[in-house]
Amino acid sequence: MDNTCEACRGQAPADHYLCQACQHSILAWLYEIPHQVRLLRDMLEPTTGPAQRGGTGRAHAPLPVRLDVLDLLGPGHAHVLEDPHGDQTGGVPVSAFLTGWAHYIASDVPTAYRDAHRTVHVLQVSNATAHPRSGTGLPAWCTWHARYLPYTATRPYGTRFHHELEGLLHRLRRLTHTTPRTRTLQAPCPQCQGFWLIEREDELLISCAACPVRLTPEAYTAHRAQVMPALAALALNMITPKPTAAA
Ligand SMILES: [Zn+2]
Ligand SMILES: [Zn+2]
Repeated sequence: MDNTCEACRGQAPADHYLCQACQHSILAWLYEIPHQVRLLRDMLEPTTGPAQRGGTGRAHAPLPVRLDVLDLLGPGHAHVLEDPHGDQTGGVPVSAFLTGWAHYIASDVPTAYRDAHRTVHVLQVSNATAHPRSGTGLPAWCTWHARYLPYTATRPYGTRFHHELEGLLHRLRRLTHTTPRTRTLQAPCPQCQGFWLIEREDELLISCAACPVRLTPEAYTAHRAQVMPALAALALNMITPKPTAAA
């Protein structure tokens, strides 16, 4: 089996369809979902949006809830795996998405399997439906997916799960007007030399905004240790006043 990560074309571990970086993003998104849903619930009433200037008269009474928000929070059909193009995440509410995928994964989990380290895991599969231990709320389903991710990442549909979960997060963030936190790093890019290396909270790898470079945190630390002392000395030299020549 070719070990190319199907989501980012990076290198995945043996017998995996998702690389460490894409698995890291999935965990970050699962962790973010309960927070995003709390924000959405606060937005459910149309009046809690930003203050609008003017507009005292309305032709119609406003709807009691925001339909675009309700779309994501309400019940709905579990996601449709038959979508041939893999881009149909629209219209599936968060809880239906998580439970639909969990039941699908649970129906595929054998009672025992070996992980990449050849360790045998024995899993409880009850009627091929998923049962989070900590209840049936959204955080419990997110925890369920995080616990099963080591298995999901070894299945061909792992890529599809990554892609759809990313789409769901985009929809949530668009509505809540939130973006993942980013930080521009101190050292220049090892390839284009620009100061464009960016660390993003839901991504394992550090990427350059100007060229295709991607670095692991360890590779960045080593690169920084190599280039920064010389750059710091150069900067210090530029700002230190030169002694004037004796008359
Ligand atoms: Zn990947
Ligand atoms: Zn670069």
